[in-house]
Amino acid sequence: MSTKTPTEKLAIDGGTPTKQRPAPPMFPGGNLIDAEEEASVLEVLRAKRLFRYYGPTEGPSKVEQLEKEFAEHMGSRYALAVTSGTAALICGLRGIGIGAGDEVIVPAYTWIASASAVLAAGAVPVVAEVDDSLTLDPADVEAKISPYTKAIMPVHMRGTPCQMDGILDVARRHGLKVIEDTCQADGASYKGKRTGSMGDVGCFSLQFNKILTAGEGGMVITNQEEVWKRAVMFHDVIGGMRNNFTWDETLWGINFRMPELLGAVMLVQLRRLEGLLTSMRERKRMLIEGMRAVAAKKGVQFQRVPDPDGDASVACILLMPDAESAARVSRALNAENIGAGVLYHPDRVDYHIYSQWVPIMAQRAWSDGDSPWKQAKREIRYTKDMCPRSLELLGRAVHLDVNPLESNSEIEETIDGVNRVLEALL
Ligand SMILES: *Cc1c(COP(=O)(O)O)cnc(C)c1O
Repeated sequence: MSTKTPTEKLAIDGGTPTKQRPAPPMFPGGNLIDAEEEASVLEVLRAKRLFRYYGPTEGPSKVEQLEKEFAEHMGSRYALAVTSGTAALICGLRGIGIGAGDEVIVPAYTWIASASAVLAAGAVPVVAEVDDSLTLDPADVEAKISPYTKAIMPVHMRGTPCQMDGILDVARRHGLKVIEDTCQADGASYKGKRTGSMGDVGCFSLQFNKILTAGEGGMVITNQEEVWKRAVMFHDVIGGMRNNFTWDETLWGINFRMPELLGAVMLVQLRRLEGLLTSMRERKRMLIEGMRAVAAKKGVQFQRVPDPDGDASVACILLMPDAESAARVSRALNAENIGAGVLYHPDRVDYHIYSQWVPIMAQRAWSDGDSPWKQAKREIRYTKDMCPRSLELLGRAVHLDVNPLESNSEIEETIDGVNRVLEALL
């Protein structure tokens, strides 16, 4: 029984829930949309200026302004706005020269789009383990390198900055490119540098679940003019002309151009970033401080965050002693009105875990002729248990959202509820 409320039963056993009500849904930027986004969108509509390059009226482009401010904010020379995080990854991969026959190392824990983007660029994903940071393990990356590996894709999952020193070191020693997927970590940093700005190219998503959002959208950042040019040309068939690139260097492209309406929303959202990060970081520190003693006593560890000061702090992840206790703790927390979930269940389809990327694991191609696996320079084999350490860690990882809208007293309730559950169940 809990030392704090020794007489009370857990909610799962019929007691009153520790939290009076669950936290609002976790849409950090989305929940803040207000009159400022409205005004910005109205400006575009009233000017009938819906297309980034022109309209019936003159005036500055929101998308162009966004690219300028985003690059500055993330500490990068160039930024390119696109229509999704997946589009950003494809343009980033094309930007750094990835295509058929190439291999790109991706982590076992990431949204499936990281791997699908590699396939969409014609290359094949090779999956490497995450470690107790739940991000790419540099040692396993090195073990997965083949003569055909061209790039490494670290993914800053749940706001956690990856171990970029180790990853950049492996990349340098083997002559590989680095494409950062920072779709879940807007504004996070590692040793003072923003995620996305450390590799050859960095990719962001503005989909509604992400820290900042325009509903959909994406951004590509890079310090290299050549990578930027290639990404611009791929994202927009007329991008080369628009930017006065010479005919000799022009490549064909498709269309991932960002609409002005998204640019209008995102320009306002960008100004909310530092405030959101500060709120989430304060709340995460409170949570960790408040849970530390009971967690230590019960053999529960916190996810290791490679640079805690740079953590975007959207999540607080607890590593339970085993999968069975993680499932029990998670169920009991939900009964207390605490939003919690285990990151991996063997029998639940969840596209965040490589073993559940069913169409990729089965190497299904869109046509016989364009299977990236047939174009690969060696046979690529996937098995459900090829990254056992990742599955073991994720299977006992209990995830809590760090919601910027919750008050200090609501965070205190969460701490109290988690401590009571850990005391009672472990
Ligand atoms: C959301 C996400 C993507 C894809 O972004 P979309 O905008 O949905 O295309 C890619 N990688 C990660 C890690 C994501 O979380």
